[in-house]
Order: sequence, then structure tokens, then C-alpha cells
Amino acid sequence: MANKATKVGVVGIDGANTSILELLDSKRQMSDLISTIPPYTPPSWTSIITGVNPGKHKIFAWRVFDPDMHKTRLLNSHDVGYSRVFELLNLAKIQNIIINLPMTYPFTGIKNKQHSIIVSDWAAPKQDIYPSSLFDKYQEFLIDPPHTWRSYEEITEYIKIIDEFLSLRLDMYYDLLESRNWNFYFIVFSEVDWILHKMPELLEHKNVHLVKPILKKIQKFINSIEEYSDIVFIVSDHGFEAKDRVLYINEILKNAGFIRPSRVQGKIISWIKNKIPLKLRKKIKYKLNFQSFLEYESDVLKSDAFMIDPESWGVYVQRNIEKIVPLFKNTEGIREVILREDVYSGNYLKYAPYLILVPEPGVDYSTEFSGKIFGSVTKGDHELHGVFSVKGQHIKEHINYPKTPTVYDVTPTILHIFGLPVSNDMDGRVLMEIFEEDSEFAKREPKYVDPRYYGKKQEDEKLKKAIKNLKLKRKV
Ligand SMILES: [Zn+2]
Repeated sequence: MANKATKVGVVGIDGANTSILELLDSKRQMSDLISTIPPYTPPSWTSIITGVNPGKHKIFAWRVFDPDMHKTRLLNSHDVGYSRVFELLNLAKIQNIIINLPMTYPFTGIKNKQHSIIVSDWAAPKQDIYPSSLFDKYQEFLIDPPHTWRSYEEITEYIKIIDEFLSLRLDMYYDLLESRNWNFYFIVFSEVDWILHKMPELLEHKNVHLVKPILKKIQKFINSIEEYSDIVFIVSDHGFEAKDRVLYINEILKNAGFIRPSRVQGKIISWIKNKIPLKLRKKIKYKLNFQSFLEYESDVLKSDAFMIDPESWGVYVQRNIEKIVPLFKNTEGIREVILREDVYSGNYLKYAPYLILVPEPGVDYSTEFSGKIFGSVTKGDHELHGVFSVKGQHIKEHINYPKTPTVYDVTPTILHIFGLPVSNDMDGRVLMEIFEEDSEFAKREPKYVDPRYYGKKQEDEKLKKAIKNLKLKRKV
């Protein structure tokens, strides 16, 4: 029943919405794609690749507070608590190529990868490729991304550096596309996200000429992958909007007496602010998360409540919840205050921030102690509406979506195309409306199984391997 011959491509364009996809000239039908709450890169891509909400895959932000260790830490591939779709394809021996997907590094955090080639994403501490036997061949393309972008004053200079990064890496993407055997090719382009942070006017199609060379290169790649695939999806993890106000969440908690930072710590921060030049400070902050370290050291983590990662929209609450909820409900700039159990479900709920603060449009959060509650900014930042598009063999030219697709629907739909069953604890659905009525995909009912189905398959594989090893040993 498995349709192993089908070739499926997924092009991820980080941060793109329908308005950005129009600039690509892709001549595709587009739909909104509803992101995760919060609509940020780590939880959202992880939901796209697993089909489940953060309460089941455990990735709520870049940085989380671990209630057991009483410490904050950055998340990595080891933290992903649910099988990714390409791990399930591995169990069915389907060859796959995974490029630039957040939370795949280090590769040791991925259990099933014997049929995978994986290229690390920009946030990985080191650029790398799996299997390591390919490292020498692709080493020259495994360059660090333009991480220090915040220090570029000129937008044109910044775009030039992104363009150089993309141009060089593209040679590797093409080589893997054209010379390797695969049935599933998944790639994320982060360039659009980086640019939109600096150029929110792009959402209104202003200053497009500045980024045209980059968009053309991405479009050319989409044309190529369409040639090599039967079906190609374009998805993004979230959209963007222009932000003009910044709300200092920890300052609000401090003013209300829920955070009591010590004097010593305040002195260290002001010493650093006085002694180290701004440019260097930004660099250090970006490289080592230095400022976060100082801000969150002991005192804050002992406080009643705090925000660790503004991109989580989340506040960890240890005491006085009954006073903190009304505090935020009465704060200008916050549209909604939601308890974690009303947004997430699953085994990892206890790792989620206790409260989720949904901002008003145009409002960005900061964790800094700035001495004020509101500030002004001019930047782009994330928003809930990404983009979804699918084109190819047995896919309708014009699709009527009965419900707007969500990030959770991508994995179940891919599993269905490959003839594999969908775990019934996945939060998404198979998007049956995309398939032509008389196609095998439309006629075949989606098969749902208990989550233990894939777990058992893994055990079977392990057992087979163990038996094989035992036989080999006996021969010796
Ligand atoms: Zn993103």
C-alpha cells in the first residue's frame, strides 16, 4: 500500500506570509497557515515536523526554565519529545534530506536517521552535516550564518551579506537535490525572516528591489525542486507584522513587587553598561547571551514570576498567580492572558510557561529591566498567519479549504501521501481537500493508529539489529 515511489518536496520559508509569497512570483494558490502560540521559529517548525502542539513536543521557545533543575537553558534536538516525520519515514526506509530545520542539532538527538542526510540550521552552534562521511565533500558550504547582523547599520550591506550566505549554501542544496537519492526533501530558508525583522515595509511591498536578488534565488530553487518532485509544499512557520511599541514584561513584574532583583546585580549590569562600548555589548549579548545570564541569575529565578524568552510570550509563575493574572489583564498592550492548559495539552505541559500573554497588534515584548514599562521600536516581528501552498501530481488546481490549514496538518498530510498511518494523538488532520477526486490519495482513507504503533516499530528495528549483530558475532 505504501506509495514509496512518490517524491515530496517541502520548501519552508521562515516568516513568510501570503503577501511575501506574492513577491516570489510562484504562480501558486496560497492559503493562510495558522501558527503555534507563540508564533515563533522553534515551537512552530517543531509542530510542522511532528504534527503536535508544544505540550507534546516540549519545544516552547529557544530558552526555557527547567522547573526540576531550577535553571534556564537553551533547547536543542535532544529536547524534542515527539518523533519527527522524517524519523517515521526512516522506519519505513524512505530516503530523506533535511536541511536547515531548527532543533535538529546535535544530530545525536535524532533517534532514527539511518536513511537521512541532515544539514544543521543557522542556530546550531556549529555548522555540520549528517552522516559525517559527507563532511569533507560539503565542508566549504557549511559556513556560519550572518549572526552578527544586528551590528550592520546599513540595510544594503546587511542584505549583501545574507545574499552571499545564501548563494554559497545554495550550491550544496542543489547538489543534494540533484545527485542524491531521496523521496522526501525538506528545506528551510531563513533569509526572509532575517530581512523582515529589519524591513517590515516589505509586507506592504515597499523597497522590494533591495531583496529581489534573494527572492529570485529562492524562486529558482522552488522551480528546480518542482522538477525533481511529484508534489511540492511551501510552508512557513509564522507571519510578520510591523511593531511600534515594546512592552517590558519583567519591569511590570518588578514594579508590582513580584521580582526583587538584588542591588549587587543591578550594580554589575550598570558597570557593564558604562565600561563596555555599545557595539561590543551587542556582540557579547548575541554570542553568549551575556545579558540574559546577568538578568536571570539566581534572584530573578527565585521571584514570584518572570519572563525568560520574549519569543515565548510566556511568564513562569511560582507564587501569587491570583494577583499576577489580573495585573497582566489590566496591562495596556496585552490582548489576552491565557493559562497554559488552555493552549497546550500533553505530557510536557509542566515545562510550559504558566501564563501566555497574547500581545495587541504592533506590540513586541522585552525581558530587559529598562526602567520603564513602554518603549518605542521600529521593527518587524512575528505574527500568527504563515503561508501554505501545495502543487503537483494529483493535487487540485484550485483547493477549497473547509478550515484554514494549521502547522499541525503538514505532518499527517505527508504521512498519508507516503501511505503511512497517522498517530491518533497528532493534533493536525490529513488535508484530504488538496487531492484530486479520482486520485489514489483521495480514495485511500487516512489510517489512524495508536501512538505506540511507531514506538513498537522502533523496538522491532532494534530487535532486528540486535539479532543481526548476534549472528555476526557468532560467525566470527
Ligand atoms: Zn521563524
